[in-house]
Amino acid sequence: MIIDTHAHLTMMNDDGVRVINNMKDDNVGAIVTIGTTLEDSRESVEWAEKYDNIYATVGIYPDFSLTTTDEDLETIKDLAKSEKVVAIGEIGLNYYGDDYDKESQKELFVKQLKIADELGLPFCIHCRNAGEDMYEVLSENKHLINHSGLMHCYSEGAKLYKEFLDLGLYLSFSGNITYKKTDRSYLKDVPLDKILVETDAPYLAPEPLRGRKNESKNIKYIIEKIADELEMDAQELEKITEENAKRFYFKMK
Ligand SMILES: [Zn+2]
Repeated sequence: MIIDTHAHLTMMNDDGVRVINNMKDDNVGAIVTIGTTLEDSRESVEWAEKYDNIYATVGIYPDFSLTTTDEDLETIKDLAKSEKVVAIGEIGLNYYGDDYDKESQKELFVKQLKIADELGLPFCIHCRNAGEDMYEVLSENKHLINHSGLMHCYSEGAKLYKEFLDLGLYLSFSGNITYKKTDRSYLKDVPLDKILVETDAPYLAPEPLRGRKNESKNIKYIIEKIADELEMDAQELEKITEENAKRFYFKMK
């Protein structure tokens, strides 16, 4: 069974309900729906509490670093106490566009790492165009990585994968690992027990569906592509990634 370690059901509305209803037929065992704002985190928890096999994360996305208050973070902490909340996320650094503030993003990120540590939860990292800074911040805050973290939509490639693995993180691969121009050569050097798979649905559909609306069942294309690169059986890799997801999101039942 596939476990989608990162999707946004809250951004799919009725389509999200259809995806949930089809999970069994689609060989999808569980979906983790990811919070991005305070409101979205609250909604994610609602979805998770309403449906079996749906889990949530709560957290504030880096783009909102300048407007997030300590009170908001207290609310995130409260939301995280739900039994269905399996991690803090997505949190991190987003150096994309021309309107980002590095310092406040780093500050918000570290504050949320502290929440994860305090509550004994793993965390999900968003990192775009910020690999070096991400590595620096995590290295300086190693003491906060007690329940591991995952690099969502891993895109630093061969450049930094060893460094992130050395910090004890998992690498989570999404549709972009299937794209024609993506370097997949380093995959064989990533320990099998550190590989996770995710859709980031409704975004980032994998080949051959690139450009379309994405959903959890499409993870099979990601697994096939990685298995291909590793010259292993896709079903075996599916099983391994399922076990990895359950180990990482240890609150999952
Ligand atoms: Zn996402």
